[in-house]
Amino acid sequence: MDKTESNLEVTEETTELPALTAADRCDICGAQAFIRVVLATGDLVFCGHHGTANKDKLKPIAISWQDETSKLS
Ligand SMILES: [Zn+2]
Repeated sequence: MDKTESNLEVTEETTELPALTAADRCDICGAQAFIRVVLATGDLVFCGHHGTANKDKLKPIAISWQDETSKLS
């Protein structure tokens, strides 16, 4: 492989999380969840609205940010 090597070492390039289902409910308002945030302390799930509302706060500390808001359409 003579691909240019990246300086970034990616240990977990793909986190395999189960897709969110209708049974997953936003931790704040109880609407169907489309965003899962994996934190060191556990998972949180949010609807599209609250996921976006908390993104600035949680994204920097999230281990994984699973955004399925594209399913909303
Ligand atoms: Zn919500």
